[in-house]
Amino acid sequence: MQVVTGKEMGAVDRYAIGELGMPGAMLMENAGRAVATRLLHHYHADEHFLVLIGSGNNGGDGFVVARALKDAERTVNVCVIPPEEKFTGDARRHKQLYENVGYTWSSYDPVYFHKNDVIVDALLGTGIAGEIRKPYREIIQTMNDASKTVVAVDLPSGVPGDESPVPDGALKADRTITLQQPKLSHYTYPARDYYGQTEVAPIGIPPLALEKTVETRRSVWKVADVITHWQPRAASSHKGSHGKVGIIAGSERMPGAAALTAGAAVKSGAGLTTVNTTETAIAAVSARVPEATYFHRESDIESFYENKDAIAIGPGVGVNEKGRDTLATLVDHYQGPIIVDADGIHQLGDMLENVRAREHPLIITPHPGEMAALVGSSPNEINSHRFEIAESFAREYGIYVVLKGPCTLVATPNGDTWINATGNAGLAKGGSGDVLTGMILAFIARTADIQPAISTAVHLHGYTADYLLKQGTPMETMTAADIVQALPASISTLEG
Ligand code: ADP
Ligand code: ADP
Ligand code: ADP
Ligand code: MG
Repeated sequence: MQVVTGKEMGAVDRYAIGELGMPGAMLMENAGRAVATRLLHHYHADEHFLVLIGSGNNGGDGFVVARALKDAERTVNVCVIPPEEKFTGDARRHKQLYENVGYTWSSYDPVYFHKNDVIVDALLGTGIAGEIRKPYREIIQTMNDASKTVVAVDLPSGVPGDESPVPDGALKADRTITLQQPKLSHYTYPARDYYGQTEVAPIGIPPLALEKTVETRRSVWKVADVITHWQPRAASSHKGSHGKVGIIAGSERMPGAAALTAGAAVKSGAGLTTVNTTETAIAAVSARVPEATYFHRESDIESFYENKDAIAIGPGVGVNEKGRDTLATLVDHYQGPIIVDADGIHQLGDMLENVRAREHPLIITPHPGEMAALVGSSPNEINSHRFEIAESFAREYGIYVVLKGPCTLVATPNGDTWINATGNAGLAKGGSGDVLTGMILAFIARTADIQPAISTAVHLHGYTADYLLKQGTPMETMTAADIVQALPASISTLEG
C-alpha cells in the first residue's frame, strides 16, 4: 500500500473529486463510516464515546463518525470546538446532515472527559500548519493528560502528514485510523511515536487517482513481499548457483567488522564468501568464520573481484589511501553490484561522477551520520528530511540509497522508495550495520532484481531483532552476532 504525504493525499482527493467525479461529501461519508466501523469493532457496547470536532475536513469526518455511532445506538457525546460560521464546504454539509437527523452537539467542556471512555480526535488533520494554536492546544493537552483511550481520525491532531517537525503539544494517540493511505509521518521519528496502534481504512478512492497524482511511489516492504521474492534453493544447485561474494572489510583495529559481515553473508545463503582483510586480521576472522576464504589486503584487487557476483566494501576498513584506490578501482572497473558501507561511504564523496557513470548497480548503506558526511549536512538535518535527501541522491547518481535508522528506507534510482518497518533499538549498537551489509550482499548476489533483494535483507535484519525480543532477549543485551546466530530460527518462522 502506497504511503503519501498530507499534500499528496490532498492532490489525490482533488483528482478523485474533480477528475473522476466522486463527490467530496461522499468521500467524507465513506471516511467517517469506515472509522465508525473500526470503532465499533474495537470498543464494546458499554464504552461511551466523546467525539471532538474541529472546523476543517477532519471535523467533517468527525460529524459522520458521530452520526454513524449514534445510528448504531451507541452512547456518544459530541463537542464542536470552532464557532458555527467557521464550517464550510463538505464539513458544513455534514454538520447540517448531522443536525437534520435530530442529533445534537455541545460546545467544548472538559467535563465530558469524565463521562466517556473513548475520545475520538477529529480536531486537526493534514491541514495543520505550524504551531498548534488556541483553543486546540489546551484541548489536546487535556486529551494527553486524561487517562482515557484516544483514537485519532486520519492523524493525531497536530502531527503533520510529511517529514515536517512535530509541533509542541501534538496529540499522543492510543490508536490512529488513517484514511485511505498511510501517511509518511507514520514512518518518521518522532512522529511515529504519536500514532499508537495504526490501521488504514479505505474510503473508496480508486488506485488511478494515486497513479495520476503522486510522483514518488513510496511503499512498505512487508513480510508478504519477502515471501513472494524468496529465491528457492534448487535441489540440483551447487555453491556457484548461490552467489560468490567478496567482502572488503576489517583492519588490524577492527577485525570484528569483517567477521560480522562475512558471518552474516554465509548465514544468509551466499554460496561462496571471500574476505579481503589485513594480514593481521585474517587469523581472528577466519577462526570465527571458517566457511569463508581469505585474501590479504595487499594482494591484487583485480584477482579478488574478477569472479565475484557481488562485492561489499567498507565495514571497519578505516580511511586510508590504499582503501580509496581500491574503492575507485571497483567503481570504475568491477562489472557487478557493489555495496559501499561505513568508511567506504566516507571515501565515496570525491568519486561521485564515476559513480554516476557506472553501468552496474551501486548501493550505499549510510547511517544518518554517514549520509550527512556524504552530502555535506548534519545528522539532524538528514533525520528531518530523510526521504527527500535519500531520494534525490539516489536519482541524481543512479544508485540505491539504504538510509538506515528506525524505519530504514531504500531509495532506488528509478524513483520508487521502499520503507522498512521491522527492527528495534536493540540494533542501536556497534556492529549491527556490518551484519546488514553482509545480509544485503548475500541476497543481491543471487538475483538481478536488486531492490527486492535489498529490501528483503533489510526486512529480515529487523525481523530477526524483533524475533529475539519476542523470544525474551532484552534490547540491552542484544548483539550483532546474536542477529546472525538467530537468522535460522527467525527465517523459519516466516512461512508460519
Ligand atoms: P483540511 O480541512 O485542510 O483538510 P484539517 O481538517 O486538518 O484539514 O483542518 C484544518 C483546519 O485547522 C483549518 O480550519 C485551519 O484553520 C486549522 N488549522 C490549521 N493550522 C492550525 C494550527 N497550527 N493550529 C490550529 N488550527 C489550525
Ligand atoms: P561509525 O564509524 O561507527 O559508523 P561515526 O562516528 O561515523 O560512527 O558515526 C556515528 C555518528 O553518526 C553518531 O555519533 C551520530 O552523530 C550519527 N548517527 C548515527 N545514527 C544516527 C541516527 N539514527 N540519528 C542521528 N544520528 C545518527
Ligand atoms: P555499525 O556500523 O556499528 O554496524 P550502523 O550504524 O552502520 O552500525 O548500523 C546500525 C543498524 O542498526 C542499521 O541497520 C540501523 O537501521 C539499525 N538500527 C539502529 N538503531 C535502530 C533503532 N532504534 N531501531 C531500529 N533499527 C535501528
Ligand atoms: Mg555502519
